[in-house]
Amino acid sequence: MSAFDPSCEHAAIREGVAEVCAKFPGVYWRDLDARRAYPGDFVKALSDAGYLAAMIPEEYGGSGLNLSAAAAILEEIHKQGCNAAACHAQMYTMGTVLRHGSPEQKRQYLPRIADGSLRLQAFGVTEPASGTDTLSLRTTAVRDGDAYVVTGQKIWISRAEHSDLMVLLARTTPREKVEKRTDGLSVFLIDLRALVGNGVTIKPIRTMMNHATTEIFFDGARIPASSLIGEEGKGFRYILSGMNAERILIAAECIGDAKWFLEKGSSYAREREVFGRPIGANQGVQFPLARAYAHMLAAEAIVYRAAAMYDAGLDPGIEANSAKMLAADASWEVAEACLQTHGGFGFAEEYDIERKFRETRLYQVAPISTNLILCFLAERALGLPKSYG
Ligand SMILES: Cc1cc2nc3c(=O)[nH]c(=O)nc-3n(C[C@H](O)[C@H](O)[C@H](O)COP(=O)(O)OP(=O)(O)OC[C@H]3O[C@@H](n4cnc5c(N)ncnc54)[C@H](O)[C@@H]3O)c2cc1C
Repeated sequence: MSAFDPSCEHAAIREGVAEVCAKFPGVYWRDLDARRAYPGDFVKALSDAGYLAAMIPEEYGGSGLNLSAAAAILEEIHKQGCNAAACHAQMYTMGTVLRHGSPEQKRQYLPRIADGSLRLQAFGVTEPASGTDTLSLRTTAVRDGDAYVVTGQKIWISRAEHSDLMVLLARTTPREKVEKRTDGLSVFLIDLRALVGNGVTIKPIRTMMNHATTEIFFDGARIPASSLIGEEGKGFRYILSGMNAERILIAAECIGDAKWFLEKGSSYAREREVFGRPIGANQGVQFPLARAYAHMLAAEAIVYRAAAMYDAGLDPGIEANSAKMLAADASWEVAEACLQTHGGFGFAEEYDIERKFRETRLYQVAPISTNLILCFLAERALGLPKSYG
């Protein structure tokens, strides 16, 4: 480690996270993967150690740390071969709650999220018809007395079956009645447990990796008007800053994955002997790992730059999107090099490579696909005509 290494920051936090992760080796994750089961013990251990409350202010029982610290926590989880997908949403939705939630909402929920007795792990944005085009979402929340009535469908909403609360984005004013496309959407902090069976149905979707993702049907579900976050109709703005946090945190997870694959790939290349010498003595084996290492280093620098900008209250849209794309590309590149280095053994479940390979592939698509990041950068950073929306 040198002073220029972003992983020098938060060294004590990283060590603590690594200690928790050491209790959850590959065999734990392999078993869950085969059963597509939720890592409840792992999430509890992280909660008990206080890491999931990192971003909750101290007055509500958390540690009051910033996004850079949260990124270090999630990176370390992945570097240790674990997977933070079971619990990262609590961190990236926190900014929306902290910046725009009412004092009453914070008093009601944050202390219990901090002590682990409530989980805020679901973020409901994507819909089957709108996909990436969030502004076209069709789920409506219509005010009726002291409630909103929610009707519509969400898809790919991860952890909904394992979360008490969900941050929901829905349309409160019809699109044809708003001046700007970004108006008329509102954000709610809803209690999912109370709604299941009362207008809400959650159906799991089995995917290529263990991700606890679902589709959610809202059939006239009544949610208290007090669950609205901030002002009605301004929700898209609130969600955007949460999306930057999400991109930065997921990018940090990708850096952790990349480091895990690099360690596995290079140690196997040092040990495995074929033709009477270690396979890692061949440049054909070294170069893909070395190239991917350089790409990981570059991506890591932009991830922590974006996090520092977020913490400074700046708009890190360009950096957060670049970080997400570069880090996801780096983790995928190293995953490929690591699998190839392992030859046939890379396909054996007991090496964990094939599982991590499936897991890290997701980040080319979610929470935003590479193409859409390129569209955004072309428009915002280079001033080219907007090609989407
Ligand atoms: C396992 C998993 C977990 C998820 N968890 C959540 C969650 O918890 N909450 C949530 O809200 N969402 C979640 N998502 C949804 C995720 O954010 C979306 O899948 C993602 O944003 C892409 O949207 P889409 O699948 O509808 O793809 P589409 O929007 O249908 O796009 C399909 C393909 O077309 C490309 N494309 C589309 N438009 C353009 C264009 N104009 N130019 C170039 N290319 C274009 C895209 O890049 C993509 O490759 C999850 C998804 C998965 C798979």
